Amino acid sequence: MGILKEKVKGNLIVVSGPSGSGKNSIVNNLYKYNNNFWESISMTTRQKRTGEVDKKDYYFISEEEFLDNIKNNNLLEYTNYNGFYYGTPKSHIMEKLNAGIDVILVIEIEGALKVKELIPDTICIFILPPSMQELKRRLISRNTENKDKIIKRFTTAYKEINEITKYNYVIVNDNLDEATITLNSILISERSRVDRIEDIHLGNMEEELHELLIDKDLNNTERNIA
Ligand code: 5GP
Repeated sequence: MGILKEKVKGNLIVVSGPSGSGKNSIVNNLYKYNNNFWESISMTTRQKRTGEVDKKDYYFISEEEFLDNIKNNNLLEYTNYNGFYYGTPKSHIMEKLNAGIDVILVIEIEGALKVKELIPDTICIFILPPSMQELKRRLISRNTENKDKIIKRFTTAYKEINEITKYNYVIVNDNLDEATITLNSILISERSRVDRIEDIHLGNMEEELHELLIDKDLNNTERNIA
């Protein structure tokens, strides 16, 4: 029997950061280093961008369907961001956590804080770009949105970064692989927390000590030193 019995439950992890911080790229890259996590797919009413796939990047749904999901209490949290609804479906989250799998939500700050309020031991991680100049460059080079939307996302970034102290960890995404390894290290460290221990099996001290005293190797050590 191993010395530790740990809680089976996985951790709930929220990853946030301004558009262009690279938070989605980091989580997508995490599959290279870790296969014990599950990324939740959000629902949104915003339009699909070129290259995005329904039911993979998001569940792209109408406003009417979104409102139905709110009414039927299907969402863990939701928000209206830049004029569109975004929400995390409740389904699967508890099931995965109970099976010992870490669950990652890539969501914006308002939603992150709601999740933390509902489930206080949620681990909140904030992704920063290396500089605001680099963020501007990334938003422009993404080539997925018009000028007004880019300006809106850039100004929103300033507000978002001001909320960083509400998070538990920060990762600067200067290099994708390094940032991903840091994220993975946080996941690994969080799994080693002492408060995840349910029980420690030390055995019976008298019995273990008796075995130690009659241990051949131990007695040889004694002879060697003498
Ligand atoms: P985008 O339109 O760039 O895909 O997403 C806009 C913002 O909404 C991003 O910060 C993204 O992380 C966030 N977001 C995506 N899904 C959800 C969700 O289910 N809930 C919340 N609160 N935010 C989300």
